[in-house]
This record gives sequence, C-alpha cells and structure tokens, in this order.
Amino acid sequence: MVKVVIDPEAGFCGGVRRAIKMVEEELRKGDVVFVRGELIHNLREMHRLEQLGLKISSEIDRINGSRLFIRTHGETPEVYAKMRNISAEVVDATCKNVRKSQEIIKEAAEAGRQIIIFGKKKHPEVIGLLGYCSGRGIIVESDEDLVKVNFDIPALLIPQTTADPMKFLGLKLKLDEKIDNLVTYNAICPFVSKRESELKDFAAKVEALIFIGGRHSSNTAALFSVCKSANENSFFAESPKQLPMDKLSGFKTIGVSGSASTPMWQLEEVAEYIMNNYNE
Ligand code: SF4
Repeated sequence: MVKVVIDPEAGFCGGVRRAIKMVEEELRKGDVVFVRGELIHNLREMHRLEQLGLKISSEIDRINGSRLFIRTHGETPEVYAKMRNISAEVVDATCKNVRKSQEIIKEAAEAGRQIIIFGKKKHPEVIGLLGYCSGRGIIVESDEDLVKVNFDIPALLIPQTTADPMKFLGLKLKLDEKIDNLVTYNAICPFVSKRESELKDFAAKVEALIFIGGRHSSNTAALFSVCKSANENSFFAESPKQLPMDKLSGFKTIGVSGSASTPMWQLEEVAEYIMNNYNE
C-alpha cells in the first residue's frame, strides 16, 4: 500500500497569499479587475482566477475597468506614472520584500552608485527593479554579463528575491575582489531561503517526490533542482495528467510538494490522483 504525504511546509508564500486574497476580494465585489501579466506563475491558478472574472492586459492605456491590480513583482515608476492617467483604481499587491528592494535601489542610485542586479533579465520583478536605478542599473544573469560592470566606481549589489543563494554568494565574492566600494543588500526572500532546507529534508524522507508548479516560475525551477539534488526520484508536473505514474510503481512513500506559487488545492488534487491510480 502506497503512502502519499503532502509536504506540511508547502503552499503559497506570504506575498502570494496576500495578493490572491486581495484579488479575490475585488472580484467578489463584482468589479472588473485587470492585472498586467500573470498574477502568479501558475497557469491553472490563473485559469481559476480568470473564471472568477480576472482579466489580463499589458496595455495600460487600453484598460478602462474599475480596478487595475499590481502583482507581487511590483512595477517601474514609469508604469505607476501611466496608471495615474487612466480611469481605473489601482490595487497594489507589490510584496513588501520587493518594495524594500525598490527603495534600497532608488536611494543608492540617487547617491550615485552603480546598481548591479543579480537576476533573470526578463523577470518582471527585475524589470521593475531596473526602473528605480536612474539609468545606473546593470542586470547580471551569468558571468558573461560581468563585462558590463564598471569596477572603478561605487556599486550596490542586490539579488532578485527568488535568486539562488549560493550563486548570489559566489557573485558577491567575485565582485568584492574587484570593486573597492561595494555595498551588498541580500534581498533573497527569507521564505525562499527557508524553503530550500525544508524541502531538502522532506525530499530525503520520501522514496519518490512529485514537485508541482508552473513551468515558467523561477521559484519552481530553483526549488525543483533542490529536490533533485536531495532525491534523484524527483519528478516535476504541472497537473495530475502529467504525472509519470509508470515511474512511481514500487515506491512505498511518495511526497508531494510545490513552489511559493503552487496553491494547496493542486497538491491535494495530485495526492488524491496518485492514491487512486497507483500501480503496485
Ligand atoms: S517569494 Fe518572497 S518576495 Fe516573492 S512574493 Fe513571496 S514573500 Fe514576496
């Protein structure tokens, strides 16, 4: 008989939980609610919210609904300025950790520092952060980007909130050697850092692990690689349909976990599916 265990520490992070609660409240009022891009990087959760009435639009100028929702990733000052010229009321769910990064960057850029952001160039949070750099920002995604850094001027090094802590430390050590006046602000979210060690423990306690999340979520990719390093029988899926049921045969304890943007209902659904479709 197989035992399927849901990771007790899994579920939304504080920022995502707050954003989902806020958007559900607005939708319950019956208002038309727009969001710029995906509210969270989880297609099935987005589909659920769209069925409740949420509309996605990146064209701010074309929005004429009654509410415009800002995601946990935050926005650039230019986008905030554009929002002031439309009729919709702005509901801001920028995560407090991202807001803090924006403030730190703004202050350092105004003081004349070069801003080195360690993160994914196309990630909305990073694009938002770049907007606070007063034109002094550089995004470093890999070592190849270091050619853009001016090692002769004071700089601030700051990571995306979901960056890999070890890679960030590696970059900090490299830059410490090259830049005399380097200030570092470790903006990696405490939830993300804590999740890594919790997930390692959980993955090591089960024979096989199913990790559920959105394929385009940075946090999902980072945490799934943690699972793989702790337990080689770790498998990724976005929904029950993608579960590798043939590969699960023979395992007696199967863990189910997910990223900061994976709702608990998806983990419960997967656990139930495994119980009902498991072949000894
Ligand atoms: S992962 Fe951390 S920084 Fe990102 S939304 Fe959640 S709480 Fe905020």
